[in-house]
Amino acid sequence: MRVLVTGGAGFIGSAVVRHLIIDKGYDVLNVDKLTYAGTLTSLLPVANNPSYRFVRADISDRRAISEAFSTFRPDRVMHLAAESHVDRSITGARDFIETNVLGTFNLLECARAYWQSMEDEGKRRFRFLHVSTDEVYGSLADDQLFSEETRYDPSSPYSASKAASDHLAKAWARTYGMPILVSNCSNNYGPYHFPEKLIPLTILNALEGKPLSIYGDGTNIRDWLFVKDHARALDLIAERGRIGETYNVGGRNERRNVDVVRSICAALDGLVPARRPREELIRFVEDRPGHDLRYAIDATKLEEELGWEAEDSFESGIEKTI
Ligand code: NAD
Repeated sequence: MRVLVTGGAGFIGSAVVRHLIIDKGYDVLNVDKLTYAGTLTSLLPVANNPSYRFVRADISDRRAISEAFSTFRPDRVMHLAAESHVDRSITGARDFIETNVLGTFNLLECARAYWQSMEDEGKRRFRFLHVSTDEVYGSLADDQLFSEETRYDPSSPYSASKAASDHLAKAWARTYGMPILVSNCSNNYGPYHFPEKLIPLTILNALEGKPLSIYGDGTNIRDWLFVKDHARALDLIAERGRIGETYNVGGRNERRNVDVVRSICAALDGLVPARRPREELIRFVEDRPGHDLRYAIDATKLEEELGWEAEDSFESGIEKTI
């Protein structure tokens, strides 16, 4: 199996590349531009593996991406390359439109040309998995869960750009009959996470005794999934998911942000005792504009149709992450 992964030097992409090579024995071509969020250090466990290849390229670069398809000849594409940080999208949305919308458009067009050029058996086997987020659904009331039928209602420039890219992927499936699937996942955490996001930032600041900033009153709720469980889900969806379908991925692990930070403090206090409980470092800061209150995923379709379930609880995942 030959898999072209975009964004494989990022947080989730690198977990996918490691899983496909180490656990599945697949050949992988990682296409990544190496923005501030990408680092090849996350791929050291596979860097010298003969099944691993890397091309530094922008997914918007038509010539480079066409060449990646024609030389590597993938059976599957797993598309993770994206600008992914909500705060950055608020202060500068252009990169988000360029990569998430125009980059996805270019990738779809290159994949279409390649897929149409394949012989029948290759065409039948080919899959394109577009990896997206639950943030496209917007904010939830207390008693609801996001299902695959939930109406799109994005709040931030990031989630709007991801919503646009999901629509492009679905349109390319319907219009051109391409074998495309879409996944929408809740918040991930785990090793190799860039320390601008809540969990890795809290761990590093807590270890250094720095203030632990939390937006608003800390009651925003996210549904946390350990990154390796997401990587396994994506492989399963690409392997056995129904063409043209969307699958929601989530760990049924809803936590208020303040409780996430408190549990990291408690775990660190146990592992690396400090003079004072690290919870005392918590500071509440002005809320992010348009901050969605709650995300929570109903993953029943993925669980019942493809037999997936998360292996790590929040507690075991946080311990591994620390
Ligand atoms: P990340 O920011 O850690 O990594 C993104 C990677 O994409 C980086 O390696 C970067 O260099 C690369 N990249 C960016 N622009 C590129 C371009 N124009 N061309 C080629 N490569 C480019 O992101 P992540 O957290 O690993 O997220 C991966 C995907 O999963 C994204 O599509 C994101 O929307 C989605 N997602 C993330 C989460 C989460 O909690 N992090 C949850 C659900 C879905």
